[in-house]
Amino acid sequence: MQVLKFGGTSVNDAKCISQVVSIVADQRRADREIVVVTSAMRGVTDLLINSANAAARGDRQAYRDARQALIGRHRDAAEALISDLDDLAQLQALTDERVREFERLCMAVAILGELTDRGLAVISGLGERLMAPILAAAMRARGLDAEAVDAGELIVTDDNYASAAPDMDATGETTRARLLPLVRKGAVPVVTGFVAATPSGVPTVLGRGGSDYSAAILGAALEADEIQIWTDVDGVLTADPRIVKGARPLAELTYGEAAELAYFGAKVLHPKTMLPAIDLGIPISVRNTFNPGFPGTRVVPKSSNGGTVKALTVIRGLALVTVAGRGMMGVPGIAARTFAAVAQGGANVLMISQASSEQSICFVVPEADAGPVCNALEAAFGEEIKRRLIDRVTIEPDVVIVAVVGEGMRGTPGIAARLFSALGEKRVNVIAVAQGSSETNISLALDAKDADAGIRYIHDAFGLGGKLE
Ligand code: ADP
Ligand code: ASP
Ligand code: MG
Repeated sequence: MQVLKFGGTSVNDAKCISQVVSIVADQRRADREIVVVTSAMRGVTDLLINSANAAARGDRQAYRDARQALIGRHRDAAEALISDLDDLAQLQALTDERVREFERLCMAVAILGELTDRGLAVISGLGERLMAPILAAAMRARGLDAEAVDAGELIVTDDNYASAAPDMDATGETTRARLLPLVRKGAVPVVTGFVAATPSGVPTVLGRGGSDYSAAILGAALEADEIQIWTDVDGVLTADPRIVKGARPLAELTYGEAAELAYFGAKVLHPKTMLPAIDLGIPISVRNTFNPGFPGTRVVPKSSNGGTVKALTVIRGLALVTVAGRGMMGVPGIAARTFAAVAQGGANVLMISQASSEQSICFVVPEADAGPVCNALEAAFGEEIKRRLIDRVTIEPDVVIVAVVGEGMRGTPGIAARLFSALGEKRVNVIAVAQGSSETNISLALDAKDADAGIRYIHDAFGLGGKLE
């Protein structure tokens, strides 16, 4: 069995949807059992979220405008794809009903003047719920047996509404009970990505970009042979193609490498996508909907082709926090107290670096967390600051992390030296550096203004645009 996930660009309009149907039809011709997972049309989730936020601020015009755009885009696509008038009328009525639901929810938000995570989860998942019935109908119009399925019936999560965690056992049972009978009779279930529900049926979502994760969760639940992520590029590339023109698709990556790249901002895969696949060793392939003949990237348990540095990525909008002072030296427990204070503030630490002189610890957090983290540290070290053992807690804003990823770096000497000399020659200042103990990744903190140039220099220095090492 194959699980095929199509992203927002792949279902952006009638022409794209028609291409998706061709891909599914091709795989069905080979008599494969298939489950399809769909995202919302490109930009729709942003539109839904922005409208809900505007409603909470009392702006009712935003959701009225959004209603028009939503009806227009979905009705146009359906009209172009479905020729049977009864089917089309039914589909358009469903679209209208979902959009009315959106409007009613936004109206409620505007009246309350507040948007809860629970409310936002319902509203932000409507894009997928609008899309799945259209894609299923488009498949039926081309002679495939297909049925739209709401993932709220399949994926059972906790009540962390905006970024919910699945209960894999419960999800496995409901998914198999609902989807296997469809698949076995030759039908293609077209499942809404991104959305899920709590055990009592309250809608949740899996976090932005979460449709990839949906596909992996369903793939694991069904013990699929492969999870295919269909997107708008030729696979996972050596760098973000919007930054590096010469970025090339990678034939193969390990789960570990793909997870590092995704965690450090490569948008092509949701960072949690690999988790459900790892236990069962299910390969994930990343393919281009608009170049379906190209094999794309295979994400597998173990790499067969070695290589050192495989790809680069960047995560932006960060700040570097430094705790410094002579009282740090040789005093046990300073690091533990530092990170206990950071954890209390709820901040996610993306990188840690301590100078060997032990005079300072610095770490990188999202910019929005830096102020609260700084306050928590000043409170935790109040005594040491008073006694001048700790001089200061400082924040350096406008920082990015560039992550250099490749399992082959492990045990290959000189990678860090090449990195630094590539950046040094071009006068790019490295603020801090850290290497994970798995040695799959070297993270560099750079000034935000150097990010794009830094990535291009490293890409060149390791010959990633040419023949891969
Ligand atoms: P989808 O809507 O199909 O889920 P996304 O926009 O979420 O697509 O992810 C695909 C995009 O990710 C690409 O169009 C590309 O701009 C961006 N991207 C960033 N880094 C990489 C990378 N290393 N490899 C491939 N794509 C990348
Ligand atoms: N539509 C959702 C989002 O934009 C999920 C996804 O595209 O994967 O975040
Ligand atoms: Mg995506």
